[in-house]
Amino acid sequence: MFIARTTYTLRIFYAGDINRELYGFYMNHYIDSSGDKNMFMTSGMEPTSARSVLPCIDEPARKAIFKMSVVHDPLYTPWSNGEIERRETLSDGRIISYFTPTLQMSTFLLALIVAPTADFACLPDRIVGSKNTKSRVCGRTNILSQLTYADEVAYKTLEFFNTYFNIDYPLPKIEHFDVINFPGEAMENYGLLIYDDLGIFFDEKIVSSSIKQYITTLVVHEIAHQWMGNLVTPAWWNEL
Ligand SMILES: [Zn+2]
Repeated sequence: MFIARTTYTLRIFYAGDINRELYGFYMNHYIDSSGDKNMFMTSGMEPTSARSVLPCIDEPARKAIFKMSVVHDPLYTPWSNGEIERRETLSDGRIISYFTPTLQMSTFLLALIVAPTADFACLPDRIVGSKNTKSRVCGRTNILSQLTYADEVAYKTLEFFNTYFNIDYPLPKIEHFDVINFPGEAMENYGLLIYDDLGIFFDEKIVSSSIKQYITTLVVHEIAHQWMGNLVTPAWWNEL
């Protein structure tokens, strides 16, 4: 029996599988700097895969604040919707990384990447707007120089939409992450946007100007979703 006007706390201990398909929290592969096939973890929650990762009311209208923490090998770095606010070393040598709480958000916009620190990094932050939002582009270290075009589009677009909507982007950072294998072109996860390799990789020596145009459109599209879809969200999928 529940007593009216009382706040109850529900604790659920749960386990979810790391997937081998391209949905939920899944294994992804890349070729490292020594030419070997290596593994990292990526997520893709839209539309209904968040429920395979954590117990949740997995519907776009049901928003919540998420406080994520990740236990990981010290040689790995996690990325998520928030920024890492602190790290602790556990007695077995693993690290627990705590992320800043999210805003009220839908489950389909949750994101998590865990990747070897030696092979993944971000370009330097671009500071945008009066809130000093950090805009950055991340991926394998050996392709970072091919992400500079997307980096430029990304921070200029954030600046543009801050003014256009007259509502500042509300999170402390916005990351654009190239994950190689992604189901679709890109996903607008709140604060951690994930792209397929084709989405933001640009090398003018090998790809055409039409690809440059495609990257521009895609990055602008995903940033626009931070307001339309993330801040204000359709009640149900048929509203999309
Ligand atoms: Zn879209």
